[in-house]
Amino acid sequence: MLLALDQGTTSTRAIRFDDALRPQAVAQRELAQHFPTPGWVEHDPEDLIRDSTAVLREAAGDHAITAIGITNQRETTLLWRRDSGEAIHRAIVWQDRRTADFCAGLPADLIAERTGLLPDPYFSASKLAWLLENAPGARADAEAGRLCFGTVDSFLLFRLTGQHATDATNASRTMLFNIFSGEWDEELLRLFNIPRAVLPQVFDSAAEFGVTEVLGRPVPIRGMAGDQQAATIGQACFTPGMLKSTYGTGCFAMLVTGAPVTSRHRLLTTIAWQLGGRRSYALEGAIFNAGSTVQWLRDGLGIIASAAEASLLAPQADPAARVHLVPAFTGLGAPWWDSEARAALSGLTRGTGRADIAAAALEAVAFQTQDLLDAMALDMGARATTIRADGGMARSDWTMQRLADISGCVVDRPEVTETTALGAAWLAGHQSGLLPGPGEAAPHWRLERRFTPRMPRAEAASRHAEWLRAVARVRSDGLDTHRPGG
Ligand code: ADP
Repeated sequence: MLLALDQGTTSTRAIRFDDALRPQAVAQRELAQHFPTPGWVEHDPEDLIRDSTAVLREAAGDHAITAIGITNQRETTLLWRRDSGEAIHRAIVWQDRRTADFCAGLPADLIAERTGLLPDPYFSASKLAWLLENAPGARADAEAGRLCFGTVDSFLLFRLTGQHATDATNASRTMLFNIFSGEWDEELLRLFNIPRAVLPQVFDSAAEFGVTEVLGRPVPIRGMAGDQQAATIGQACFTPGMLKSTYGTGCFAMLVTGAPVTSRHRLLTTIAWQLGGRRSYALEGAIFNAGSTVQWLRDGLGIIASAAEASLLAPQADPAARVHLVPAFTGLGAPWWDSEARAALSGLTRGTGRADIAAAALEAVAFQTQDLLDAMALDMGARATTIRADGGMARSDWTMQRLADISGCVVDRPEVTETTALGAAWLAGHQSGLLPGPGEAAPHWRLERRFTPRMPRAEAASRHAEWLRAVARVRSDGLDTHRPGG
């Protein structure tokens, strides 16, 4: 048996898998977020430890566990005491915008060239710099080697095993790691004024990370990867050209490229996994609002009683209606990166009803994915033809069919949609010698349902062009461009 710990922004889950990676048991705890002031988002570090410990024990039960894999919300930043493991401040969550002004002054070219990222508060470096400046005594303790920095994976590992390490995928989201050389970058450390002594060791994603006694007996931790990278592995996207798209609160699409590809269309270049000392890369597009739009229909507008109701209403929408919902509630992510843009509902007539609005909310996911696919196609010179979809919203057949129709891609939904935990379990199982390497058979991926495009391509193109006009109207720079990244 293998055990996966999936530490997310709103919940912590553990899933026990058998050696063929079939899920056997799930345990979950909701995780509190703290909002001390607008734009700030924090977790209590001890909540992370308590919940992780509890779900690991519950999902393991009395079963013999060969190894544990950890996957986690990425970029979230912690600083803790090397002697006691006690965090010196709350965790600063990836969504936190407190360092926005600082990031506006950063050298974008240098950062892109070393890290594949854009200078945005989303990533860890500016959060760590903030902690070193603002937590009392932090700078002196850090210089003296008394503090450890890490993302959530690293903090959990330290508390579970005493080891101070991370994996290459998590390191690739810190904005301090040179994703091409696979080392912490001296120039970036100077830029952010980070003492080397706080940094964790960087391992492969499948490695001997340490041994924990959390289950009352020694169990090795043998897999670690950031959540979207773990989902890519869980979706068995092991070959360059394969693409997964996860539809949860937001949407994260990852196109595996093998060798690193520098985006000219404002996608991120990131490490997909590192195995046997070799790195594989991906292009990533992040959309901030996907399932959250459905939540807004339910909790904000109150026009549906449950998320599932949106998919029941959508087929009743007027097929001739041209209602668009651009869900820029917290700005637009890739490929636009416009944090000042705000959401809009357009194309309303007196005939517009809640079915049209529900359809527009679900369809927005298809259009936003299409924008990412267009940027990826421009970067790669070739279009993806298949999307492996997962996440809560992938449960909606209507949305998956519309995604296939708009994108012209085949959309494949797997049997196990807990792809993040599956990826972490795969890493632990692979390191334990139970599972073959990437590129060989991936028996953990089984198709549940395939959605094939049915809409004429001309209609899909005209609908997407209307969407781009709706996006242009909400952009804060007022650019009436119809090209992503323009
Ligand atoms: P996260 O991991 O970000 O918390 P999940 O993958 O659990 O998200 O997905 C939850 C999201 O999926 C919610 O935002 C919810 O609105 C949406 N969702 C869940 N079921 C459906 C459905 N049947 N149709 C449309 N959206 C759904």
